[in-house]
Amino acid sequence: MAVAAQLFRLEQLDADIEQHEAALADLQRRQQTNPELQSAEEKLRRLRAEEATVSAEQRSLESDLGDLAARIKRDNARMYSGQIVDARELASLERELAHYRTQNDGLEERILELMERLETLQVEVQSQDHTVAELRESWESSRPDVERRRQRLGSEVVALRGERDALAGTLDPRSLSMYDRLRASSGHAVSSVSNGVCQWCRVTLPPKDVQHARSTLVTCNNCARILYIGV
Ligand SMILES: [Zn+2]
Repeated sequence: MAVAAQLFRLEQLDADIEQHEAALADLQRRQQTNPELQSAEEKLRRLRAEEATVSAEQRSLESDLGDLAARIKRDNARMYSGQIVDARELASLERELAHYRTQNDGLEERILELMERLETLQVEVQSQDHTVAELRESWESSRPDVERRRQRLGSEVVALRGERDALAGTLDPRSLSMYDRLRASSGHAVSSVSNGVCQWCRVTLPPKDVQHARSTLVTCNNCARILYIGV
């Protein structure tokens, strides 16, 4: 096989290895983390935290309401006890009672809002809990399949690397280092030639370059890639 053909094959193998390794890394990521499940769990945590906050606020306001009811009862008792005769004192007590009642109405309204919000949150928590459980179950059940695919990809990478190393072993160091340099600098080392055109940069090559490239290493005068004349 001509050197350019060997380098062309080498690049196919390297590209294949890269693809396999990317797929392998992706599978390993999927084995370790599940972003969809994580965000569903995060949403569940947020909902539960809000549920706890709303519930605490409701309890605290209910306790305030209880205190207020006691004050209203006390003031009412004083008001109708007949013990207060001073008009100013009575008027002040009436103002206080009116103020308490306004407070009472406000609290009741707010508690009602909280109860409604809590009801909605409880439904949401239940549904999100279900979603999390389903996602976790489907992730768990996909594990054996993902593991099988990971193992298969792993052995394919080993085989590809074996073929790559064997091929690289037959190449002369100068060609190989040229290949490595091109791949490192531009990500692509070998370009095939079709109808006299470099397939990488689409420039029409001088006929003598095409001719030489059949027997020796020639690079494209435009993109500097090694030219490979296919069949
Ligand atoms: Zn080119």
